[in-house]
Amino acid sequence: YQAKRRGGGYAVYAVEGHEPLAAMTMESALHRALERREFVLHYQPQWHAQSGQLTGFEALLRWQHPELGLVPPDRFIPLAEVTGLIVPIGAWVLQQACVQAAHWITVAPALRVAVNLSARQFQQPDLIGTVTWALETSGLAPHHLELELTESMLMQVVEAQDTLKRLKALGVRVVLDDFGSGYSNLAYLKQYPIDSLKIDRSFTAGLGGVQASTQQAEALIQAIIQLTHALNLEVTVEGVETPEQLEIVRRHGCEYVQGYFTGRPQPAAQVAKLLPSVLPS
Ligand code: C2E
Ligand code: CA
Ligand code: CA
Ligand code: CA
Repeated sequence: YQAKRRGGGYAVYAVEGHEPLAAMTMESALHRALERREFVLHYQPQWHAQSGQLTGFEALLRWQHPELGLVPPDRFIPLAEVTGLIVPIGAWVLQQACVQAAHWITVAPALRVAVNLSARQFQQPDLIGTVTWALETSGLAPHHLELELTESMLMQVVEAQDTLKRLKALGVRVVLDDFGSGYSNLAYLKQYPIDSLKIDRSFTAGLGGVQASTQQAEALIQAIIQLTHALNLEVTVEGVETPEQLEIVRRHGCEYVQGYFTGRPQPAAQVAKLLPSVLPS
């Protein structure tokens, strides 16, 4: 941690046993959380931008901590990733989301569920086995499952292309998440068998404001949508927070939208009320 030095400036000190202890405590807490079933999934609706039909939900992990309350994923996933606990946690997420989707499709037969994969999961030799297990135990047909991964995962993992091909062979959809936040090499993407791109919400944030920069933001998102379509991929725009933003991205022909304006992540019981449903036009 950092401590203020007498002369101004900062020095970094490692306090014996302090940081490692905190991480250890957190690690065992995550272990217990899994055993005690303290993890929950919230689901955020995704809509077909043009027709306004509900197309599915993204499953988003939360930790229902007995004292801390609902802990967001950014607070514990990094450590779960480092310790490898993300592998069993991620397997639980996959199965839970598939079980939930298997219920929903009884009333909304075309619905999909999107699950985030971490880099660690993507590198697991048994990823295909885990996905197959989640599908078989839930009885969900593979085309209802979408796996979200990021560009950096594709770039880091040597066997990425092979893993993606095997996932595609199972019949699940593959979506590239947070597009534009990292390497963003569209030409490079051509070699990967992905179905769809999600434009990072930092691009959406600039849309529909009063500033002059909103025109630039709109030109940029329009260009990304066109390029993506040129590669025969579908586009989801995430982070849609206002009716103006929804109107703009609809106008530029994106396929799917997701964001606080069109629906926040909520527990399964809440989002079930949306079934079957259409966006107000
Ligand atoms: P992500 O995959 O990019 O998920 C979208 C995040 O944006 C979610 O945050 C969601 O609540 C938030 N969001 C949705 N609409 C809006 C909006 O209109 N405005 C703004 N400002 N934010 C919006 P959340 O649930 O806190 O998740 C954060 C990240 O944690 C996710 O980013 C994903 O990378 C990761 N994560 C969540 N669940 C899982 C999981 O089961 N496994 C793994 N490996 N990662 C997960
Ligand atoms: Ca995601
Ligand atoms: Ca995202
Ligand atoms: Ca993210």
